Amino acid sequence: MQLYYDHIGKRLYWEKPNQLALASPCVTAVTKFAQGRTSYQLEVARKPPRQRTLEPNGNHSLRHASNNHLISYVTQCPLGGPNSISETYRNSLMIMASRLIRSLLISFIVTPAFLFILCLHSVSAELPRLEHPTKADGSLSLLVVGDWGRKGAYNQSQVALQMGRIGEKLSINFVISTGDNFYDDGLRSINDPAFENSFTKVYTAKSLQKPWYNVLGNHDYRGNVMAQLNPVFRNIDSRWLCMRSFVVNSEIAEFFFVDTTPFVDKYFLRPKHHRYDWRGVLPRKGYLSNLLKDLDLALINSAANWKFVVGHHGIRSAGHHGDTKELVKQLLPVLEANEVDLYINGHDHCLQHISSTTSPIQFLTSGGGSKAWKGEFNTSNRDGLRFYYDGQGFMSVQLTPTDASVYFYNIYGRVMHSLNLSKGLHSAA
Ligand SMILES: [Zn+2]
Repeated sequence: MQLYYDHIGKRLYWEKPNQLALASPCVTAVTKFAQGRTSYQLEVARKPPRQRTLEPNGNHSLRHASNNHLISYVTQCPLGGPNSISETYRNSLMIMASRLIRSLLISFIVTPAFLFILCLHSVSAELPRLEHPTKADGSLSLLVVGDWGRKGAYNQSQVALQMGRIGEKLSINFVISTGDNFYDDGLRSINDPAFENSFTKVYTAKSLQKPWYNVLGNHDYRGNVMAQLNPVFRNIDSRWLCMRSFVVNSEIAEFFFVDTTPFVDKYFLRPKHHRYDWRGVLPRKGYLSNLLKDLDLALINSAANWKFVVGHHGIRSAGHHGDTKELVKQLLPVLEANEVDLYINGHDHCLQHISSTTSPIQFLTSGGGSKAWKGEFNTSNRDGLRFYYDGQGFMSVQLTPTDASVYFYNIYGRVMHSLNLSKGLHSAA
């Protein structure tokens, strides 16, 4: 089993990708699992120490500290410094545009015109990256909310109030939204007042005036997706950051945001009376294949202690929607092969924690941002289920290089469940 890289870190050949984790000396199983009344302690086995090295060609590489063998090249982050979120956002869009133009030019020269058109949507590229600094002490705190945009109704405002209170207490660095940002049918245009009525005028607490990293949900795809992705909304509310798939790097942790809606067959095969905005997604097969490749490469190149993947749809869920079989088949193997610690989603309007007996990944649902209490609970899908709450609420994550603490809150700000993970000091360089 061998990995090969060219001089810029692009993978050339990878045998049996789903078995990489088993073959790699960096990956072992969970070594200990202790269960308390409401919290769980996991100890993940140490990986061989890795060190980051500046190579003569200017790139960074990851090498095993013990034998100096190359693990991978780490391409330099081409974006601005840690405090220039708006700059990095702009730059990432410009980089994406320049890569697309470069790819188009190459395609135009070397292929006939009809192939050129096909290439428009099948260009694999590095995921856009944003940098977010940790606190001065090297820790990080954030909130996670999903399925929220209802102009304050269905307790959205109450959840927002408690998010403000907990956000202040934890001095959060940013907020993650797991999608379905605007009900029922996304945003109509860049002038849609729902943006301000469901976002700006609801999450008004001082502590929530931080960047919001948003993915799209299936309800967002029912509106004008290109509008919701348009950075022009940052002129109205500078907190807003919404892209399809991207990475937020925060030194001790990397957050990989994945556009999960295009994975789900029924939106294409049985859309019922709904219309989905698939601009930028078709042809679907190429879009999904490139997304998985780009995510895989980003995860392989990550040197962060903690790797969290965020999507709208659950991989595992005991709620109304249940497991998303397309993600179990296509996305989960990539996460398992790359030592992802947490998969975080919305979609089911509940709070939920599922652990796995087959991998150290913890599956967390934070989809209680507004309408909830559906009263549906799939009793046949309870394997690994640690916590399920059918009502509204949100989640907090507190991180240090070695410890992660996750708390679920209801609309009174009361902690309903918690999860603690810890890693050895030498789990990553
Ligand atoms: Zn949804």
